[in-house]
This record gives sequence, structure tokens and C-alpha cells, in this order.
Amino acid sequence: MTAAFLKEKAKILGMGIAMLFLVFILFGWILQFDFILRYAGDNYTMKFNTALCFLCLLVALILSQEKAESPFNPIVVVICLFVFSVAFYTLISYYFSFPLEIDNVFAKDYYNTVNPGKMSKGTAICFQLSVIAILLKRHTKNKGPKIAQLLFISIFIIASISIISIILGIPGENRTSFLETMAFSTAFFFLAIAISYLYQERTWGPAALFHGKNLGSKILRRTTPYMILFTLGVSFLHQLLIKNHLLDPQFAIILLTVILLTAAFAFLMISNHFINKTNKSRIKLQKSLENSNSELEQFRHAIDQVAMISVMDNEGVITYANDMLCQVSGYSKEELIGATHSQRLDAHNHNHYFFEQLWATVRSGHIWINEIKNLRKDLTTFWTNAAVIPIKDINGVPKRYLVIKIDITRIKNAEEEILKLNKSLKGKNQELKNMVYIASHDLQEPLRTISSFVNILEDDFSGQFPEEAKTYLDFISACTNRMRNLVGDLMEYAKFNKSLEKSYCDLNQIVDHVLVDLNVKITQSSAFLEIAKLPKVYGNENALRQLFQNLISNALKFRRADQAPKITIECVDRPQDYLFSVKDNGIGIEEKYKEKIFGIFQRLHSSEIYSGTGIGLASCKKIVEIHGGKIWVSSASKQGSTFFFTILKTTT
Ligand code: ADP
Repeated sequence: MTAAFLKEKAKILGMGIAMLFLVFILFGWILQFDFILRYAGDNYTMKFNTALCFLCLLVALILSQEKAESPFNPIVVVICLFVFSVAFYTLISYYFSFPLEIDNVFAKDYYNTVNPGKMSKGTAICFQLSVIAILLKRHTKNKGPKIAQLLFISIFIIASISIISIILGIPGENRTSFLETMAFSTAFFFLAIAISYLYQERTWGPAALFHGKNLGSKILRRTTPYMILFTLGVSFLHQLLIKNHLLDPQFAIILLTVILLTAAFAFLMISNHFINKTNKSRIKLQKSLENSNSELEQFRHAIDQVAMISVMDNEGVITYANDMLCQVSGYSKEELIGATHSQRLDAHNHNHYFFEQLWATVRSGHIWINEIKNLRKDLTTFWTNAAVIPIKDINGVPKRYLVIKIDITRIKNAEEEILKLNKSLKGKNQELKNMVYIASHDLQEPLRTISSFVNILEDDFSGQFPEEAKTYLDFISACTNRMRNLVGDLMEYAKFNKSLEKSYCDLNQIVDHVLVDLNVKITQSSAFLEIAKLPKVYGNENALRQLFQNLISNALKFRRADQAPKITIECVDRPQDYLFSVKDNGIGIEEKYKEKIFGIFQRLHSSEIYSGTGIGLASCKKIVEIHGGKIWVSSASKQGSTFFFTILKTTT
């Protein structure tokens, strides 16, 4: 049940009770029920005409509840005219005698001998004010409701005077002329009608001040009951003292004035104390607000210098655009504001789904970040890194969206350029590989022919050659062999590329096979090998075999003359990859050659001292890189070398 619903119910209940009471009074008069007509003891009872007019007034009030724009109910006008006429006739009849008797038409008043059945002058005036107010409150254009409120305030004051007079026991003859005989129930009715009207029309004037949310209104609401009780209490006490001759009436006036003045002053002091307090905190708040506003302004200025900023509503309509956006897009603020982002800036580079995702993300209250291609006014495009940030209301519902964009056109263009270059480089690389492979392959054939002819020459004509010629033939033979090795290694090198097939390979098996192949060299050199347990890795078996073969055979080849080779192979399991090491106790490598040796055809010794082609380590580097790893060496001259390399654990 809502508060509004409960209020409505309370209103209906109040009206119902009031009407029942009035009907009760009317019947009391018609049927001359003494207990009803004397209900207020010595006080004056509500007269028949008064009860009738109240009933009419309530009906008029209920009927005039409709909205201001609906046509005015004629019944209300008729009722108001009736009540006004009765009140008017009553007032005039106080001073002149009229032939028409309206006070005792339905019921005779035996209780009042002076003016039997006649409503009091105060009552008649209040009825007149009430109907004028009811009729006026509809005339919004002519300040009707405002005048109506003033009229109800007047009724409130008149009724209050009557009630207070009755509470304080001031006899009618001691009151001001027109307030002399208003009954308690009549005054109460007027008070209730005035309060309920002022409560309903609380958007303007004193009623608004009383119902407002600000501090002044709060103080007013809280202190009013105490003020009323205090004033009534003091007045009652005064009256009591005067009645019992304990206080002189004239001095009582002075005393009452001083007490009320002091109370009013105290009230003013208290309320001003609160107002001062709130004012101080308001000033403090204002200062901190000004500070944060200035900070925000600085932030905004800073962001304005580097980013394009706009604000859009739920339909994507731009409601704010900064200078940077205008500058980059070529549109003026007027052209951007009021248009949608897609109408002005969409380069039609992204599909429907892209924007659907954007809206779904921001409407659910999350920030969306992505790259967007935008269109300038001159139809050229620009790339932006965009963030769309929902601005939520106090219930957390996104109402507007802040769009921050940074121009990344240059980066994007550079990226595109790199991609293009990469593509062409890949093509060239492939071409080169094919060329090397084909060239090497084709070179094998003439080499084999030269070799076989040298062999024929040596076999068939060895006796006919002079010693010198034999030396030349040996020389040709050695050169051809070297050439064959070179071409073989080159072919091997060209063979390894990223498109090699991969699978899980057991490195223990691979190294075992390598050791079998190198068995002769190992035995001849009396090498000692220490090999740790190796893992299974995802890679190309042949390439990995070649890798270990090159490193181990180098370790055997570049040994020191005074020591048998000692080779240790180890592996460290790391989170992302495996780190392998092949360590020897050979001749070592000087610091300055550590990078150079991995280049193709790079050798540190002549082939007379250490045979070789200078392709082995270049192949190793290529193989390791194909497996997502790196290779490097750690060594000092004549102190052995350790070759390190890594192999990624992933299967890509
Ligand atoms: P090659 O073995 O055919 O000469 P590599 O590419 O395998 O060609 O090696 C390049 C050079 O690196 C070698 O000529 C040698 O000088 C140096 N090198 C390679 N491995 C070792 C090692 N284990 N100890 C010392 N030097 C080495």
C-alpha cells in the first residue's frame, strides 16, 4: 500500500465522518434531540442552517476536485450561490428585519432567545469567503488559487480565534462583534476545511513554506505545535489568574506581551542558529564544489587537447562535441549536435554486429573500448581508438554516453604498411628459399660428375701422371668434397622453415639416435657424455635431431688438444618453455664472436684446422626460432662453451 493510497483513504474517511456528523446535527434539529443540541454544554450548538451550508460546502469541495482543465461543474456554482445567499441573507438580517424567515424553516431553536436558529456573523462571513475561494481556485490565469489560499488563511484565523476564545472561556459578549457566537463545532469545521485546503494547495505561498523540504520549512513544521501549545498554555494560565483575581488584567497584557516576545525571540534565536549552521556547511560544500569543479575543468581542458570527446543519448544522437572532434572530423558543432554518430561519422567499415555489440555493452552499464574507422566531412577516413562510457542516473540506468576517441590513423597506416611489407617479404623469402634449394640441388649434379671423373682419372691413369699432377687431382678431389658438403649443408639449411610438420617428439630418443650417428667421432675422441632426462616437446623431429647433432658434433669438433671432450646436456622445466643447455670443455669462444657465430657462413677458424661450412649454428638458430625459442652461447676463450636454447611448450 502506497502512502498516496493511504492518504486518499484517510481523506474519504474524514469526509465521510464529517458528513455523518452534519446529517446527525440536521436530524437533531428536525427531531429536536436535546442531547444532540446541547452536546457542547454551555457553548453554542451548530445551527441547522450552518450544518446545511457545511454539507453543501463539502459537496462543492468534492465536486470541484477535478483537474483545472476539465469544464467547471455547474452544480458547484449553484451550491456556492446557495451557500453565499444564505450567508448574505443572514448577515443582512442581523441589522434589518426581513419578511422572509430562513433561520427556523426546518427546525425551531428553543435554546437561543436572542437570535434563534441564526448562524453567527463570523460563520456567515466564513461561508462567504469559502464559496468565493472554491469558485476562484479554478481561475488559474487570474491568480485565483493564490487569492483562494489567502481566503482560506483568513478562515483559518477566524476559526482559530473562535476556538481559542472557547478554550479560554471568553464569553461571546467579550469578543469582537462578528466573532461573538460561533459554535465550537462550526469553528472546528472551518479550521479542518481550511487546513485540508491549504494542505492540498501547498505549492504556493504560506502553505508551500509550511510544506517545503528546506530547512526553514522543517523548522516551521517542527516548532509550530510547540508554539501553539505554549501560547495556548500561557494564555490559559493568564486567564485563570485573572479570573481568580490573582493578576490584574492590564498587567496581564504586559506580562503576556513580554512572555510571547521572549518566546518569539527564543524561537528566532534557535531557528537562526540552525540556519547559521547549515549556511556554514553550505558555504563549505560550495567551496569544495568550486574546487572540484575547477579540477574537473582542468581535466576537461587537458583531455580536450588530446582526445575527441562527445556525448550521445540513448539513440546515438550527439548532444555535445568538443573542438578536437570538430577539428578532426571537419564538421562544425552545429552539424554534429543533433545528428547521430552513424549519420555523420560512420565510415561503413564495421558490420552491424560490431555496433550491436557496442550498444549491448554500454546499455548494460559497461565500458566499450575498440578501434573504429570514422569518416570526415570531406569523405576521407580516420582511425580512432574509442571508449564509450555509460553515464548512469542515480538508479544506475545509463542515460547518456561519453565517447572519447583518440586519433590513431598514423599508427594504423604504419601497421598496414608493415603488414604489406611483411607479406611481400614472406613472398620474397619463400622465393629465395626455393631458389637456394633448387640451386643447391642442381649444383650437386655437376659436383658428382667432377668427383666421378677425378676418380676415373685416378683409377685409370694413375701411372701415367707425374707426381705434381696427382697432387693437383687430390686437391680437386678435396675441393669437390668441400663443395659437396657446403651444398649439402645449404640444402639442409633451406629445408627448415615454419611450415614443417610438428608432433610430440621424445628428445631422449632423438639424442640417442644422434649419438649412434656420431659414435665413431665419440669413440675416436674418447669423449665423455652426460645427458639428463629430456622432455617430450612439440616440434619437428628431423629439425630437432639436426639441432642436437650440430651442437654435439661442434662440441666434439672444437675440443682442446690436451683434454678428452666432456659434454653435458641438461634441461630446465620453466612455466612457458624448456631451457636446454649443451656444455663442453672445448676451446671456447671469444666474447666478441658470440653473436656472429650464428650467422650463415660465419666461421672463426680455417677449414684446414677445423673442417666445416659455417652453416651449422645458423641452422640451429633457424630451427630454434621455428620452435618459438631463442639460442645463445655463454663462453670464455679456452674455457669451454655452453650453448643455451629454449623451446616453447605450446602446440602452436
Ligand atoms: P662449422 O662448425 O661448420 O664451422 P658452425 O656454424 O657450426 O660452423 O659454427 C660456426 C663457428 O662457431 C665455428 O666455426 C666455430 O668457430 C664456432 N663454434 C661453434 N661451436 C663451437 C664450440 N662448441 N666451441 C667453440 N667454438 C665453436
